[in-house]
Amino acid sequence: MLQNPSFKKTRIAPTPSGYLHLGNALSFALTAAMARRAGASILLRIDDLDRQRVQPAFVQDIFDTLNFLEIPWDEGPRDAAQFEKEYSQVHRMPQYAAALMRLEDKNAVFACNCSRSQVAAEGGEAYLGTCLLKSIPLETPEVNWRVYTSADRPLRMKKWPYNSVEARLPATMQYFVVRKKDGYPSYQLASVVDDHHYGVDLVVRGEDLYDSTLAQLYLATLLQDQPFLNTTFYHHPLLKKEGEMKLSKSASDTSIQYWRKEGKTAADVYTMIAGMLGHKEPVSDWEDLGALLLPG
Ligand SMILES: [Zn+2]
Repeated sequence: MLQNPSFKKTRIAPTPSGYLHLGNALSFALTAAMARRAGASILLRIDDLDRQRVQPAFVQDIFDTLNFLEIPWDEGPRDAAQFEKEYSQVHRMPQYAAALMRLEDKNAVFACNCSRSQVAAEGGEAYLGTCLLKSIPLETPEVNWRVYTSADRPLRMKKWPYNSVEARLPATMQYFVVRKKDGYPSYQLASVVDDHHYGVDLVVRGEDLYDSTLAQLYLATLLQDQPFLNTTFYHHPLLKKEGEMKLSKSASDTSIQYWRKEGKTAADVYTMIAGMLGHKEPVSDWEDLGALLLPG
């Protein structure tokens, strides 16, 4: 049997825009279990650039949840105060601005003033390139910056543990946004810059972010970010709706804090998650859950 490959660093990257739910717990547990297998350290990276939706209570909930689930991390903030002071993404605005400037210098981006509803009405999930030929100046207030993408460009994704696949940017990611109308970098841009900044070489995330991974690889190609292009990815299965449970952040019965306040233990929560994925046996901790669910 082949040994698991080794990596330097992976990360847990929650967004404080709601109370964490069972799907987050699954993702954290698998990240921790994979880090253990790969000899990688774990960075806690809290993505707080969505200034409209971030709330202090949600930041605190991240620490409460990680502690409750006994998920370890080696690097990053130990508490909410240290997060604000040293690790908020706001502190890395100069790095995001530098990446955006490189894209601008390469004529890789164009301005788009379409509204969200306009985009949805025209293409649904996909942006059809409405502003491609409008030549809207990039410095115009309240415009998105979008990447001139090519659907033909081959992208190579290294997948855990060993293989590598060639893929194309999906239709939903054509002309993806790198700078939002509020002037903040998009999730795709900030994620690439941050993973590079911290030296992450293994990313564990849900299957729902598969298309985002492709957009990020596309961006890394434009930025000639070789370390990011060498990152290995593992996209884990998601928790499906099960019975009464609906996996949205607003549904209280799927939030970790709900179960914590109900007096459940971490083992109860891990067992519930395993059950939702069709495993009947009790699970005592994140290592157990990883052993049950991770391939290889
Ligand atoms: Zn547009």
